[in-house]
Amino acid sequence: MSDYRPSTNCLHAGYVPGNGEPRNIPIVQSTTFRYATGEAMGALFDLESAGYFYTRLQNPTSDAVAAKICALEGGTAAMLTSSGQAANFFAVFNIASCGDHVVASSAIYGGTFNLFAVTMKRMGVDFTFVDPNCSDAELEAAFRPNTKAVFGETIANPALTVLDIERFAKAAHAHGVPLIVDNTFPTPINCRPFEHGADIVTHSTTKYMDGHANAVGGAIVDSGKFDWTAHADKFPGLTTPDESYHGITYTEKFGLGGAYITKATAQLMRDFGSTPAPMNAYLLNVGLETLPLRMAKHCANAMEVARYLEGHDKVAWVNYPGLESSPYHALAQKYMPNGTCGVVSFGVKGGREAASKFMAGLKLASIATHVADAKTCVLHPASTTHRQMNDAELAAAGVSPDLIRLSVGIEDAADLLADLEQALAAL
Ligand code: PLP
Repeated sequence: MSDYRPSTNCLHAGYVPGNGEPRNIPIVQSTTFRYATGEAMGALFDLESAGYFYTRLQNPTSDAVAAKICALEGGTAAMLTSSGQAANFFAVFNIASCGDHVVASSAIYGGTFNLFAVTMKRMGVDFTFVDPNCSDAELEAAFRPNTKAVFGETIANPALTVLDIERFAKAAHAHGVPLIVDNTFPTPINCRPFEHGADIVTHSTTKYMDGHANAVGGAIVDSGKFDWTAHADKFPGLTTPDESYHGITYTEKFGLGGAYITKATAQLMRDFGSTPAPMNAYLLNVGLETLPLRMAKHCANAMEVARYLEGHDKVAWVNYPGLESSPYHALAQKYMPNGTCGVVSFGVKGGREAASKFMAGLKLASIATHVADAKTCVLHPASTTHRQMNDAELAAAGVSPDLIRLSVGIEDAADLLADLEQALAAL
């Protein structure tokens, strides 16, 4: 199935109905699965045979959708999680635990930053955050003997910086560790990080993949290219027997293509239970079917909006990687020649107050704590998510007081421009 092109895979990969079976992926709304003998079920528990026994670990609906995302990214194995947060947590914790260290880009989603810098730090995993534009020497200096992974976002939320995937992958591989890339904003329609050296990809499927604000979800995909056994001392969880699973060695039993995701399912999903509901997996699949059409429209609309804003005399600045004026334009062209994403950030003249007034004046765009959705939505971090911070604190967090994050939807661009026009005219 993965031999097909992305638009075809969005519709067909992951599920091929047999004779007389439902054309749509069935929602297997069952926690449990029946077996004729205890031995048959025991073989499943031992990972001796493949099959379902309890939806906390695996479910046919979720697996079919994971297989579709796997085909889209060009990976060897994938799993769904109940949220993007769970995906990023599992992706890192699967190979880094207490006493280990991870190098991460500082330009990442705030929730991921908090997960790493606060919660995982409390669990004993140390992070060094590097500016995605740091020099090679600065990147090199961030590694330690106990470093287990490098993490970044293809296009960072909300900074909209573009990660130089090849450069970060090269640095990671030189230290015998994988590069994990959160590919939420471009989706595999606009960027396939594995083709540029990334080893693991994560997603908040809540965003463009679902695309209709229906279901929170996440995904992890393994490229199968990282050779855990070549750095066996760094990754004993994958290369030595797992006593909690009857002495299975994941790399031996499932090969490089399957070891990482099998371990994440068998250990982390078993113990943390961040399982997507089958219904949510089904809704995600409905979104995936139209992903290529929506991404093209999001990008075309965002480019029109960004160009319009750039030419407006009440707008102080515009940040969109698709714009020639963006410092990330060259990287965006290299990694995402067909388009980046639908998120644009900009500032209006008059700072925080003008930004609030502008937002209140919008009629079509909704004020919502959400991005990457079919319907245009907008957020002014300084008066909402970051409202407790003063201007100095906002600057330290990389959020200027006038920053407006506009997630451009798939409405008619003329209606979006008219909405912006009337809100800017009222300033
Ligand atoms: N990664 C990115 C790039 C995000 O933008 C988000 C949420 O906004 C997440 C991860 C977390 O995903 P979720 O909200 O699905 O838990």
